[in-house]
Amino acid sequence: MSSLELEHFLTDNLNELKSKGLYNTIDPLQGANDFMITIAGKRLINLSSNNYLGLATDPRLIHSAVEATKIYGVGAGAVRTINGTLELHEQLEEKLAEFKKTEAAIAYQSGFNCNMAAISAVMDKNDAILSDELNHASIIEGCRLSKAAIIRYNHSDMTDLRNKAIAAKQSGLYKKIMVITDGVFSMDGDIAKLPEIVLIAEELDLITYVDDAHGSGVLGKGAGTVKHFGLSERIDFQIGTLSKAIGVVGGYVAGKRNLIDWLKARSKPFLFSTALPPAALSPCITAIDIIRNTPELIDRLWKNGRYLKKGLQELGFNTGNSETPITPCIIGDERQTQLFSKRLYEEGVYAKAVVFPTVPRGTGRIRNMPTAGHSEASLDQALNAYSRIGEELNLI
Ligand SMILES: *Cc1c(COP(=O)(O)O)cnc(C)c1O
Repeated sequence: MSSLELEHFLTDNLNELKSKGLYNTIDPLQGANDFMITIAGKRLINLSSNNYLGLATDPRLIHSAVEATKIYGVGAGAVRTINGTLELHEQLEEKLAEFKKTEAAIAYQSGFNCNMAAISAVMDKNDAILSDELNHASIIEGCRLSKAAIIRYNHSDMTDLRNKAIAAKQSGLYKKIMVITDGVFSMDGDIAKLPEIVLIAEELDLITYVDDAHGSGVLGKGAGTVKHFGLSERIDFQIGTLSKAIGVVGGYVAGKRNLIDWLKARSKPFLFSTALPPAALSPCITAIDIIRNTPELIDRLWKNGRYLKKGLQELGFNTGNSETPITPCIIGDERQTQLFSKRLYEEGVYAKAVVFPTVPRGTGRIRNMPTAGHSEASLDQALNAYSRIGEELNLI
């Protein structure tokens, strides 16, 4: 392709996205991603961050980041296996294993990175992966990278999962078979049926892999969805992110010692990408201590989540199947959804529209992420804006 052809390809595709209302504009924040944010000089109630517990701006985490930077510098200086492993990496990994009730843990540079690393370190072209159709994009990419056969099952449909697992096993085509699911589905806020998934996995000898990016810090007293269901001993891979409730950046796998040793020996981002920096490691350790010692933080998150959800439902909006603080407000049409989000912005509420391809076509939604940091007054203000705009657009 010549650079002129490339130019045409890019212009055509960008124009198509824009004309369909599928082009996302990015607004830089002036200041921190707190429960109130500033964009282009405008103060807004923030209902779009994954900063569930408000830890991204917690003074204790900021203090840890500054102190660690003074001692260890700003960069780890190398990949983990050369000499980029600081004692802070090991402290964080021990802390994560203790938190998740597993033998060991390995930290990566992000949750995305973690899925790219962990799946392909264990699965290959002789294997098959059963994957929930609504799994996060990083899981899908991680599966593709492994070259295993990908068998999608209908969202949280246990009959479909079991039938496809039986068919895969009976085909005799695959050496290993894994089932992968989000712990909490990020666009709908529903929880994976882990007890049933574990029973199917145990019946049919499947490896189990749960990406709990949105469950960690939220469910199971903060330890996540697996702990919430009492399944810590029965899930092989527990994936988490340090970028959401923990408030910093990074990802991890928690599991058996052998699994973690293998990932440290074989997973590519661990071997070939520079280790997490001190200013990320130390506040993650502080955050886990805070979560374990302050159950009120999680209580406040859930209280705010319930308050917003009930308020939206009472106004007549469809909040879908959410069982967690993630509160979608399903509008449907993509352009209408973008318009709704734009009107919320004008009314002082930042709540992002999520449309195809992030969610299926025709299920455009405003995704609301209440946090422990929101006041009831700020949620009331947001609900008032929803009420006005809903009526204006004839949605309620
Ligand atoms: C957000 C998310 C990730 C990516 O985590 P980062 O740390 O932001 O890279 C991975 N998996 C799931 C299920 C997520 O929701």
